[in-house]
Amino acid sequence: MNFIHSIKFRFTLWYLVVLGILLVLLSTGVYFGLSHGLHNSLDDSLKLRALQLSNSKVGLLESISEGGFQEKLGEVVSLYFVSEDELIPIPARGVDVPTVDQMVMEAIEGNKSFATMNTSEGEELRLYAIPFTAKKPGLIPVRPRISSQLPSGALVVGRSTEDIDDALHGLRQILIISNLVTLAVAGAGGIFLARRALKPVDDIAQTTLEIEKSGDLSQRIPVNTKDELGRLATALNQMIERLEKAFKRQQQFTGDASHELRTPLAIIEAESTLALEKDRSAEEYRQSLETVTQEAENMSNIIDQLLALARADAGKEQLTFEEIQLDELLRDVASDADVLCREKGLKFEFGSIEDVTVRGDNSGLRQLFLNLLNNSIRYTPSGGSITISLAKEGNQAIASLTDTGIGIPEDEIPNVFERFYRVDKARSRADGGSGLGLAICKHIAEVHGGSVEVESRQGEGSTFSVRLPIA
Ligand code: ADP
Repeated sequence: MNFIHSIKFRFTLWYLVVLGILLVLLSTGVYFGLSHGLHNSLDDSLKLRALQLSNSKVGLLESISEGGFQEKLGEVVSLYFVSEDELIPIPARGVDVPTVDQMVMEAIEGNKSFATMNTSEGEELRLYAIPFTAKKPGLIPVRPRISSQLPSGALVVGRSTEDIDDALHGLRQILIISNLVTLAVAGAGGIFLARRALKPVDDIAQTTLEIEKSGDLSQRIPVNTKDELGRLATALNQMIERLEKAFKRQQQFTGDASHELRTPLAIIEAESTLALEKDRSAEEYRQSLETVTQEAENMSNIIDQLLALARADAGKEQLTFEEIQLDELLRDVASDADVLCREKGLKFEFGSIEDVTVRGDNSGLRQLFLNLLNNSIRYTPSGGSITISLAKEGNQAIASLTDTGIGIPEDEIPNVFERFYRVDKARSRADGGSGLGLAICKHIAEVHGGSVEVESRQGEGSTFSVRLPIA
């Protein structure tokens, strides 16, 4: 049942039907072409023979009567004369030739004609009749209608079509057998080829089913060819790879998010339990409540950022693109950060700032640069400095933020833009970091058609560069 519904079967069936029609057409053509040729050449030979006999110097009548033509296998020669309105046949070979009276009469009247007849023995004869006039009077036992004329009649030459029938019968058998063998071999070959050609499809279906059953997205479809099916398998493999990565990211994200939220909750719980254990002084209660408030703030911060990322992932961000003077936006953000820098004893400087206009979402870009500035302040010990600059490079604006902070170890650099990734977990958390800031920066830069890069040396400082297309 499965095989009958398979593409292999349908391919092979169609192929056999088309091949069968072609073979039948070709065979019919060959058969009828040959049959026509053989019958034509028989007719030609009869014409030639009739001409030869009618012009024969040797007495035709004597030859016929003496059976002179009997040796010629398959040939019959008959003469017919009309004597007093009676047709007198002089047949050869002593056989009764079932000549058509009509063709004899027509020949006597001067017309040549062909006819095909069956003998009483079932033999098929092709006959040719032509007018015939006796060369000498008295040789034949008839009197001409007009006594002064030589007796006239009809010469009928006939040959058996047995040879032609045999040849055509043989050809028919050869064609039938060879066509059947061709169809059988072509059918087997077709199934073999279809099976080979469609094997990759089976592999794809099998692997997909296995992945579906086991849920193991690390499996890949084997790619053995570079044809259309090979490309399909490669495309599916790429899709599975993307799904696998997305799935892993999601698992990691869920784990990280719950871990991030559990930590401040655990601190709040511990702090409250401790405060409630016994009566405390007002100062102790105040300290406990401050800790609880701080951790609640941290949680709310994480939840806000998580919501922003979830909205971004779902494509539900509300961004309003407009022309923005990037240099002004940077000065604005910097003035907010300046207070924080002073609080922490950091020097804040402007490098060269060019006038650049970009198209973007004002609050999104503001958040991007605030996140970067907060990080620089967070990870630069007091006494350090932070420099901000803006330059044009081709059709891109490059905003750079350089700090002389703790820097990032080289092998950690590729990971810092990942969600919840922190180089020093304890330090980041203590400083109010959630591990989501740079992931949000990267996302904002990307929706603006730009990117964020970092260059950093541990212990020496970092430079974060934001590239945005100029409006
Ligand atoms: P966090 O909230 O922990 O700062 P981010 O996503 O903003 O999370 O940053 C990820 C990690 O990258 C940080 O934990 C920190 O280790 C590192 N990092 C970010 N900015 C800087 C910087 N200016 N200097 C040194 N390290 C940085």
